[in-house]
Formats: sequence, C-alpha cells, structure tokens
Amino acid sequence: MGFLSNLFRPKHKEITESDLRRALQNEEFIFYYQPEWDLKTGEVLGVEALVRWESPSGIIPPNDFIPILEKTGIIHEFTPYLLEKTLTDLKRLHLAGYTSLFLSINLSMIQLQDAELPQKITNALNNAAISTDKLECEVTETQAIKKPALEIKTLEKLRELNIRLSIDDFGSGHSSFNYLRELNTQKLKIDREFINSLFEKKSNETILQTIITLGHNLGLIVLAEGIETSEQERWLRENGCDVGQGFWFSRALPINMLIPFLENQKIKKLI
Ligand code: C2E
Ligand code: MG
Ligand code: MG
Repeated sequence: MGFLSNLFRPKHKEITESDLRRALQNEEFIFYYQPEWDLKTGEVLGVEALVRWESPSGIIPPNDFIPILEKTGIIHEFTPYLLEKTLTDLKRLHLAGYTSLFLSINLSMIQLQDAELPQKITNALNNAAISTDKLECEVTETQAIKKPALEIKTLEKLRELNIRLSIDDFGSGHSSFNYLRELNTQKLKIDREFINSLFEKKSNETILQTIITLGHNLGLIVLAEGIETSEQERWLRENGCDVGQGFWFSRALPINMLIPFLENQKIKKLI
C-alpha cells in the first residue's frame, strides 16, 4: 500500500472516473501559471492558468485527463474549483502588488455548454473582489461541433460581462475561422506549431505574417504561443506580433514560484 504501491503503479494505468472524483475531492488539481509578454516593451501583461494533476503516481498533464473529465461530466464540478483556485491566486498576485495583471483561463466546448457558467464566473469574481476586465477566457475547438449555438450564447454572455475572449491554438482546428466570424473576440493566440516550424521554409514566414495581419485587420491582439528561441522572439517582434508566450520566456510555474519570478521582470503598469 501507500508509497510502494504508488512507486510500482504502471505508468499508463487507465484513469477511471473514481480516480478523478477522488482527485477533485483531495484537491490534487494544481494550477501553474505561464506569463504573457508584451513583445514591444518586454513587460508581463498577465498569466495563463494551466492545470496539472499532482496524482500519487506523479504529475499528469492536462491532455491526459481533461478529455476524461469531459466524458464523465466531472468537468462541471471542476469548473467552479478552477474558478475558485485561480481567482484566489490572482488575488494573491494583486495583493503582492501586481495589480495590473490579468488571468486567462482555458474553457473547453463542454464547459461552455453549461448555461450557468456566466453566473458561476460572476459569483467567483465577486467572491474574490476582482473586476471582470481582469479575466480572459480562451476557447479551443476540440470537438467538431457543427452548430455550437449554446456555446456561442455562453460566450456572448461572457462578453456582455466585459470578459475578454481569446481564440486558442488558432490555425490548428478545423474551423478556427468560424469563431472569427461568429464571436466577438479580442485576441488570437497563434498555435505553437506555426512558431515551431517558422524557419523551415520561406512560405511558413509568409503564412505567419498573414495571420498577424489578419488579426490586426480585425482589431485583435495577436499572441504567438510556444516561443522557444531568441530568433523566433525577434522575428515575431519585428513582424508586429503583439504578445508572446513560451519556454524562451518562462514555463508555467506554481504560484509560490511565480511571485518570486515576477520580482525580476518588468510588469505592465496600471493605466
Ligand atoms: P494551451 O492552452 O494551448 O496551453 C499551452 C500549452 O503549451 C501548455 O501545455 C504549455 O505548457 C505548453 N507550452 C507553453 N510554452 C511552450 C513552449 O515554448 N514550447 C512547447 N513545446 N510547449 C509550450 P499544457 O499545460 O500541457 O496544456 C495543454 C492544453 O491543455 C492547453 O493548451 C489547454 O488547451 C489544456 N488545458 C490546460 N489547462 C486547462 C484547464 O484548466 N481547462 C481546460 N479546459 N483545458 C486546459
Ligand atoms: Mg490556452
Ligand atoms: Mg494554445
């Protein structure tokens, strides 16, 4: 039992519904935060919350368990947990003096099917005494939903609350353009694959330039994900990309490491 059984637990043991219920009960889902940088000024603008499962057998990445949370419906209990934990951490950042920083959370299509979501978000913001303009919601099209009417309605309600919407992994999905057409979004996060393959051939640079221009022509803030080298950072800055995120700047950090990390960074001032 205990330590030894955990040690010898097979690495790819199938995750069951009861594993996940217990994990939620035991608060084993921990949020790490990856900052976003203004490429022109080098200032930190905000942080994105990325969940990890600190399970008894080690840290499990979100792609391994979020789909199971969704399939089992546990995701609807996870959402209030996520809001409570991440907004508490944002409050800590604000109280530590980083009052300008925003929090960005990832919401899947399944989470957006909850008609109560806007109310849950409002309650969580009120409880933490944080204004709606300090929250951003990132949406990805993971499931091929033909007419995501319900999801779009939820997103419209979030917009009415003055919450910023952002299209995550832009360019990777089947119909990222549908989002651009249907939603009042403020930000476009370019999928890291475009940055990863940037210098492989000239046409990749052209595609990336075109995506940046597309975003700007629509009045959106354009962010590049997955920046890993100074060459990529420089190209993106010189080609007008507004915001950057990636291992070149920092990995996602737990809150108790994020605060000391921010001490050595330039932070956007409140305007
Ligand atoms: P995402 O929202 O696109 O998050 C970016 C992912 O890329 C993160 O992986 C991050 O650690 C990783 N990343 C960041 N910079 C770099 C880089 O420079 N190079 C490389 N190779 N990777 C980088 P992570 O944390 O494993 O998250 C994977 C996905 O899981 C996220 O993609 C997001 O879609 C989803 N996810 C994470 N947290 C949550 C959550 O709380 N709720 C929901 N619904 N989904 C979440
Ligand atoms: Mg994201
Ligand atoms: Mg992404």
